[in-house]
Amino acid sequence: MPNNHQFSPLPPWPRTDYCGNLRESDAGREVGLWGWVAARRDHGGLIFIDLRDREGIVQLVFNPERAAAAHRIADQARAEYYLAVRGAVVRRTPATINAELPTGAIEIVVAQAQILNPSWPMPLQLDESADEQLRLKYRYLDLRRPAMQRNLRTRHQAVRGAREFLDGQGFVEIETPILWRATPEGARDYLVPSRVNPGRFYALPQSPQLLKQILMVGGFDRYYQIARCFRDEDLRANRQPEFTQIDIEMTGPRIEDVMAIGQGMMASMFRRAAGIELELPFPRLEYEEAMERFGSDKPDLRFGIELRNFTSAFAGTQFRIFADVLARNESIYGIAMPPDLQLARRELDELAESLRSRYSMGLAWVRVAEPDWQGPIARHLSATERARVTETAALKGGETVLMVAGPAANVRPVLGEIRLNLAARFNLRKADERRFLWVTDFPLFEYSPEERRLVSVNHPFTAPHPEDLGLLDSDPLAMHALAYDLVLNGEELGGGSIRIHNRELQLRVFEKLGLTRESATEKFGFLLDALSYGAPPHGGIAFGVERITMLLCGADSIRDVMAFPKTQKAVDLMSGAPSEVGIEQLRELGIKVIT
Ligand code: ASP
Repeated sequence: MPNNHQFSPLPPWPRTDYCGNLRESDAGREVGLWGWVAARRDHGGLIFIDLRDREGIVQLVFNPERAAAAHRIADQARAEYYLAVRGAVVRRTPATINAELPTGAIEIVVAQAQILNPSWPMPLQLDESADEQLRLKYRYLDLRRPAMQRNLRTRHQAVRGAREFLDGQGFVEIETPILWRATPEGARDYLVPSRVNPGRFYALPQSPQLLKQILMVGGFDRYYQIARCFRDEDLRANRQPEFTQIDIEMTGPRIEDVMAIGQGMMASMFRRAAGIELELPFPRLEYEEAMERFGSDKPDLRFGIELRNFTSAFAGTQFRIFADVLARNESIYGIAMPPDLQLARRELDELAESLRSRYSMGLAWVRVAEPDWQGPIARHLSATERARVTETAALKGGETVLMVAGPAANVRPVLGEIRLNLAARFNLRKADERRFLWVTDFPLFEYSPEERRLVSVNHPFTAPHPEDLGLLDSDPLAMHALAYDLVLNGEELGGGSIRIHNRELQLRVFEKLGLTRESATEKFGFLLDALSYGAPPHGGIAFGVERITMLLCGADSIRDVMAFPKTQKAVDLMSGAPSEVGIEQLRELGIKVIT
């Protein structure tokens, strides 16, 4: 390692351009460039260096006869040394033009060079092939990769597009506290001890939900924030303990007003970040129809193979398994695979086995063939049943019908998953197709067997459908919410609702969720009080910045659109956070670690 580079003064020539921006039209100019050595080729006489900065790569040429001192520098330079050079932009000879590179028609003939900082040997290869653990540990190196540069800049442009749109619509950007108290969004809270209030804790917000509602009570009328949210949950793929939402709230909206804002903003984001014009408005689908047709509340509409409800086709059946199902008032759903998308017998057996082991569900399948239907259940189906199945699924012959029986609430999601797997198996998803949709009319409550009580499908501040208010005591599970999600290609990009703005109704909903009036007042008294002082009707939505950026970039993981993500175990491999803290610090906070 050369030891004369401990601290270099800046070079006497100015930095005039970014490497990646130079084009043929710059030929003849003298430029000053700074960048990292991405590659170095020593041809015995000439040395070529690919110099990289945030805009891209340009080729430098060092000629020992024309600039001996600079050539000596190039001779010392190694991967990721940070160099400053001065030289002339020169057209390459036709034979040496590199059409792959935006700067490939020119090169820089270097007159002067300086090493601004050497680099230790690289601990990882700076490309896609590098191990992700290493990429996260040496994130500052990984971030230099053009793909990461592009992803984070796409994210910036997407957020900029959102800001521009919302500013234009009269939304005011307001920051809300990070040190606050729990807001239920269905995850565990991150707690922060308060030194000055021993034994008390702040909770990091799972979202600014209550604060944005209170801002409406506070008269801001239209709010947004690029808000950091913290949720301590088991990190499944594409979840992070902290992430960013574009959080929006407005006074007095109908559902359609929130949707107009949401899709207008999405159009602005796609235009800014990718130059893509989205077709508005996005279609709408009610939750029940989404579940019935796609077995999912975030259906991927890029392909068909929709679910069919065969329950009534089997009314009065002699086939014992189905007869038992119908006797229990359960359902039979299925998927008809067209003749050109046929699974091999072995694949059908594997699918049946996985349904059995994972869900204790059976798979019944028949192939609609001539002269007779085939498959294990074919001989059990009467002529009438075959005719009804044919009609229900509009069969033309050559299809295989996959059927699953049981409670609709269990069967539909399982078939929804099979639908997605079949799409993957047969490559039915076009990567460049974008199918947005709004899903509406979610149930207000669902029953949680673990907690043995009703829980909110969205969150407890979501307004019930006014027509369903009468069901609150008699049949809460039948109530619908004024809630909506935005879905793109099977991914939920955002969701929101019209809120409860009435103290009494909020208390009654809390009660349904198992919160007594006393504990509701204790936990959410500030909200209930705010609702009691002329709170206007309000509603809003929040969108996941990482999800949206991921889809814009075609990235596979949200970690690739975050500068410093954490691992699945919520660890930052670069800094080592979370870390242990000294006993003194704990004592000051009045905390004793017991594990
Ligand atoms: N706070 C909700 C969430 O984080 C979004 C909303 O209802 O506006 O999902």
